[in-house]
Amino acid sequence: MEQKLNSLLDQARGQLDRITKGGAPGEVQKQLEDFRIRYLGRKGEFSTIMQQLGTIPVEERPRVGQLANTVKAEIEKCFEDQKKALVGTAGVNGAGFVDLSLPGRVQECGRLHPVTQIMTEVCGIFEALGFSVAEGPDVEHDYYNFEALNIPAHHPARDMHDTFYVSESILLRTHTSPMQARIMEDQQPPLRVIAPGKVYRCDSDITHTPMFHQVEGFLVDTKVSFADLKGILTVFTQKMFDTNLALRFRPSFFPFTEPSAEVDIACVICGGSGCRVCKQTGWLEILGAGMIDPEVFKMVGYDPERYSGFAFGLGIERIAMLKYGINDIRLYYENDLRFLSQF
Ligand SMILES: [Zn+2]
Repeated sequence: MEQKLNSLLDQARGQLDRITKGGAPGEVQKQLEDFRIRYLGRKGEFSTIMQQLGTIPVEERPRVGQLANTVKAEIEKCFEDQKKALVGTAGVNGAGFVDLSLPGRVQECGRLHPVTQIMTEVCGIFEALGFSVAEGPDVEHDYYNFEALNIPAHHPARDMHDTFYVSESILLRTHTSPMQARIMEDQQPPLRVIAPGKVYRCDSDITHTPMFHQVEGFLVDTKVSFADLKGILTVFTQKMFDTNLALRFRPSFFPFTEPSAEVDIACVICGGSGCRVCKQTGWLEILGAGMIDPEVFKMVGYDPERYSGFAFGLGIERIAMLKYGINDIRLYYENDLRFLSQF
């Protein structure tokens, strides 16, 4: 029996050595598995020899038993070593080893930035109302950014804009309103246009970033009234926030609209009863709007007696903050995936 055990060990070593990488995909695994069953399986050669342990004299059994343990351990060790060696290389060489016990690779899926999502949603709502979308340059002439919008040089309203100047007459646009002047200069009413895009102001805190996004919208036709403006904005806020939120128009001033209004919606958090987000007022400011100033029409050659129109501008980040309950605008631009992947 001792002889049998020793020759089994030699035989097993020899067979293991003959298992080499290469060949058809899965060939190595198949050979390894065949080996395991043949030598180490419950009905394998080792078990068969061990069944004869009862036939040898009692005084020899401890010695033979010890040898049997050593042989078995040795075969197992050789098997594991060879498996490790082959598997380690077979995988790399494309022999097709697949370790099914390894966790799978998660397919990370990209998604749209929340600002892009809201921008798309806002544009979609206005497009459904018949507005067309126009985009203009980020680097703009002083003329379109200010002059054509009734903000001449030395007008105090220029101070509110914290402008980045490129040169004396070229700047980074401080709002998307220049598109109003550009389009009206180019086309005749009736006009229904929204202009989404990036705008720039020299300002940074929890509610301001030096670059942010606006959507400018305007409508010009005969007999356009403030009621039309209210109607369009009511439809917009209802679609945007999915509820029948109350709207409030507060008198305000913009050089290019007259009359002008700041528009508030009932707080989306507390519904108007007062909370921290709305500073206990029950209202949240979401956009500025007004009837286009006759002076602006004159600059582009429209007859202010014949045409009237309204314009509005809203901040995309502001809308997204209200919609998702975000309290710091800078989160949008820190590129922290833990934040971004929530949307
Ligand atoms: Zn509130």
